[in-house]
Amino acid sequence: MKADPAAQLRLLDLQDEDTRLTQVKHRADNLPDASRLSELETRLARVRDEAVAAETILSDLERDQARADQDVQQVLDRMARDRTLLDSGTIGDPKQLQSIQTELDSLARRQSDLEDIELEIMERVEGARAAAKQLTAQRDELAAERETLATSVHEQRSALEAEARLVREQRDVIAAEIPADLLALYEKIRTDHGGVGAAPLHRGTCQGCRLALPPTEIEDLRNAAADEVIRCEECRRILVRTPESGL
Ligand SMILES: [Zn+2]
Repeated sequence: MKADPAAQLRLLDLQDEDTRLTQVKHRADNLPDASRLSELETRLARVRDEAVAAETILSDLERDQARADQDVQQVLDRMARDRTLLDSGTIGDPKQLQSIQTELDSLARRQSDLEDIELEIMERVEGARAAAKQLTAQRDELAAERETLATSVHEQRSALEAEARLVREQRDVIAAEIPADLLALYEKIRTDHGGVGAAPLHRGTCQGCRLALPPTEIEDLRNAAADEVIRCEECRRILVRTPESGL
């Protein structure tokens, strides 16, 4: 293939822009804050689940507590009724009086047992309430942190996208100056060779694969026409001759 030496040199500018574009894309795909954000989202989801579980435990215990309060109240009401009956003086039968007294004694024991249960539930409610409060506070804190980080990641990505747009515009301007066949060859090699389609020959070394050309090849290049498009024998990239090529 033949191409104007100036167009071949311009290929190196195009390569610079394409390399920059790859770097910008790599930075956008590997933002440290983006991986921190994803870790934070995992943690937030876990804490959110834990907070829901803690609140479920709390509401179950609060229901138990209401039931225990109700049980105690029922016993107290029954005892009040029995005492009113005893105090009314309307019951003359000693057996019946004895029976009421026995019931009062048994109700007093039941009250004591139920109050123990009530107290135990109350302690558990307090524990569960503290746990739920701590988890919801942690959840809210993580959610706020996530918001801040998500905004930052979004801003960083937008800035990199703007930079990529600018580089792409510049590369398109350069690409328009390069003959179609040379450009097509460059694009094909670039796709097949890790993003590098053209490299300068610098002091006898291909900057694409970093290998020094054998002296016989250097000799061939010295004799080659300036408009001849040269390929590196090693990596097959377009080898562009510059004043620093050492020819
Ligand atoms: Zn090479």
